Amino acid sequence: MHSTSKTSLAPRRWRRIITYLSVGFLFATVSPAVNYQVEVEQGGVAQWEGDDLTRCAMDGKSFLPVDGSCWYPIDFKRKPGKVEIARWASEGYETGWLEIVAREFVTQDIEFPDDKYIHLSQEDLDRHFREQAKIKPILRKDWKKPGLFTLPFGPPAENLPQGEGFGAHRTFNGEPRAQHRGTDYAISAGVPVAAIAPGDVVIAEEHFFSGLGVYIHHGNGLLRAYFHLQSAIENGSSVGQGEKIGEVGSTGRSTGPHMHLGMVWRGAWIDPEWLTLKSDSIPQVQEAP
Ligand SMILES: [Zn+2]
Repeated sequence: MHSTSKTSLAPRRWRRIITYLSVGFLFATVSPAVNYQVEVEQGGVAQWEGDDLTRCAMDGKSFLPVDGSCWYPIDFKRKPGKVEIARWASEGYETGWLEIVAREFVTQDIEFPDDKYIHLSQEDLDRHFREQAKIKPILRKDWKKPGLFTLPFGPPAENLPQGEGFGAHRTFNGEPRAQHRGTDYAISAGVPVAAIAPGDVVIAEEHFFSGLGVYIHHGNGLLRAYFHLQSAIENGSSVGQGEKIGEVGSTGRSTGPHMHLGMVWRGAWIDPEWLTLKSDSIPQVQEAP
């Protein structure tokens, strides 16, 4: 890394520390009576609506509201327990609690014919690590950017079938692998895939495991990933909601044509269906009884 990028990072890090300290200070010293709460399962997201919201906070980090609400995404691997949350409006701020509850994830045993995806050659392993290194920074980008979307999102394909396998514990040919960080939809090859919201394409290329994939930033730290495509839009494109970004395929480690959808919101991998099919049942922060 160049020394210039190091020095430009330093003020940002300080700002983050100061935000953390000031949010912590609010909780520790002048906290009003905590009287708001919500339960959210692992991989879920909570919504806190309010009038004229200006900021939101969780885990000592503050962020912008989107579409008139504060959104609290919970990573699917985050341990159950309590988390402090806050929202700011023109008249002041309020705090609450978010209770993370455990979700049961299915187990999927997959028989895979091509051993190159099970026991990687040194060359493929190196390639996989290079690709991971490329993805890592984009997962943490654009948290401060205003959200370019309103919820719920549009469908990623027409006649979307029931999704499956979010967070699944998987074995490939009997060998355990990482939990599945997305939802799979059985859709025929060649079916058009649509952007679910306006955004910017930040990666569009072929990777070892995910095949031809498209990553789209929607602002507010929300990133959507579409994998195993047979064709894809050009990297760097800006897309509108409903715009075609590629076609369903079976590239990479895939047992047949399907669309894999992944969603990361401010670093938390969540079940994509909360913002599409299940958007009517998003847990709401409410005054405690
Ligand atoms: Zn998948």
